[in-house]
Amino acid sequence: MLTDTLQRKLKALEHYPQLPAGLVQRFGELLPQLSPWQLLRLNPLQLAQDYNFDLSSLLDLLLYSTRIGLFDLNWTVVCLGCGSTEYTYGSINGLKEGHAFCPVCNQDVDFSLDRQVEVTFSLHPGIADFSEQVNPLASLENYYRSYFSASMKHAPELLPLMQSLCLGLYWVEPNERVALPLQAEPNSLYRVLNLQSHSQFWLKTGSELAALPVVVDTDISEQGFVENERQLPAGEVSLRIHNCSATTRILTFWKYDFEAMLAVLQSHPSQLLPFLSAQMLLNHQTFRELYKMQQLDPDLRLSIGSQTVMFTDLKGSTAMYEQTGDYQAYALVQRHFDLLTACTRRHAGSVVKTIGDAIMATFSSPADGLRAALEMVADIDTLNQPGAELQLGLKVGLHTGPVLAVNANERLDFFGQTVNLAARIQGLAEAGEIWVSETVLNPSTEAILTEAGYRFEARSAFLKGISQAMPVWRCQRD
Ligand SMILES: [Zn+2]
Repeated sequence: MLTDTLQRKLKALEHYPQLPAGLVQRFGELLPQLSPWQLLRLNPLQLAQDYNFDLSSLLDLLLYSTRIGLFDLNWTVVCLGCGSTEYTYGSINGLKEGHAFCPVCNQDVDFSLDRQVEVTFSLHPGIADFSEQVNPLASLENYYRSYFSASMKHAPELLPLMQSLCLGLYWVEPNERVALPLQAEPNSLYRVLNLQSHSQFWLKTGSELAALPVVVDTDISEQGFVENERQLPAGEVSLRIHNCSATTRILTFWKYDFEAMLAVLQSHPSQLLPFLSAQMLLNHQTFRELYKMQQLDPDLRLSIGSQTVMFTDLKGSTAMYEQTGDYQAYALVQRHFDLLTACTRRHAGSVVKTIGDAIMATFSSPADGLRAALEMVADIDTLNQPGAELQLGLKVGLHTGPVLAVNANERLDFFGQTVNLAARIQGLAEAGEIWVSETVLNPSTEAILTEAGYRFEARSAFLKGISQAMPVWRCQRD
């Protein structure tokens, strides 16, 4: 590690006043202790847990680090079936396709930002060059570590099956030709996988038996295997693969037994460790503030399966403009925005926009949104003078559901029925009330409300845009 460069970068980080005192120093002391693989794909949730960092502050630090060339941001599509990392991009724009193909599971992965997109941070190569240690071609272990997420832990029971199905492993240099021998059984499937190019080549046998050995010739190019499959009779086969690409290719040769694989995976499911999802990053206030100038693809449309959307409105602001005049009223409205933004930030959310005296904010879970709402209502109350005729009050609405992340007027915005309904649910609230939809309430959010001294009662509301009455909950202090 180039300690002089690192020290200079750490000094630069100290200039961000938002970071808590001592955090940069602690982080700087930890960095040299982390392994090259950890520094290649830093998982902030894991790091916060292992080293007792406040996650929100650690994320802030890492985001500021991307601005000064200490870390780079990676957006990686992970297949939840097998944990393989399909593609990694340096910008959210790379995710724009919305789907990827997993060659391991042999299926398309429609991904959503809350489930299949993992965000990691890699130490900038200018600080330390780990290319040797993490070279995917250096060993089979490196190869698998490179192409599978560290967040996916496979059950040990999977290993004996994989070993029984693996027919060979080949390193093929550019322009080299390799022969893969096979005693092909009738009515069977075999495949050669190359994770580097996300591609595979299938051999399918029928019931007939070949009298003579069969030779199959095929090529692998820069884009992957040039053909997808070949039919052949059972018997002795020599599969010859020519590496026409400019890179060394690692080929793994497998007998394919879907049923056996499914049986092991169902009885011994893989475990997914917590990771920073793209949704969590988009809902992080500092990310929104730092990256608002980033050029977003005009056609960006990315799905989030479950997003909690909040709208607020300030009661009493119109009367306040009349009574106190624009100057004072404006200052108070700004103060109210500051309080709401601080509450949003404290609960892992972000303010997407302000509309008049209202805000729209988003959160990765109903619990985060509800906790923020409770603090907001309490904080706005502190702006009121006791006994004053004019009282401000916050009216809040929350709804959870699927949304699309889109580029609206060069800003990352969220779109869809969930957003519309959240706005309409907010319209039901009186000052000091939080109205939520059925999707927001669950045992954990109910406990949060009860603990905060709130009672909640079921209502039914006809909301514009939906044909039937919808159950909603009115939450107010006892
Ligand atoms: Zn997969």
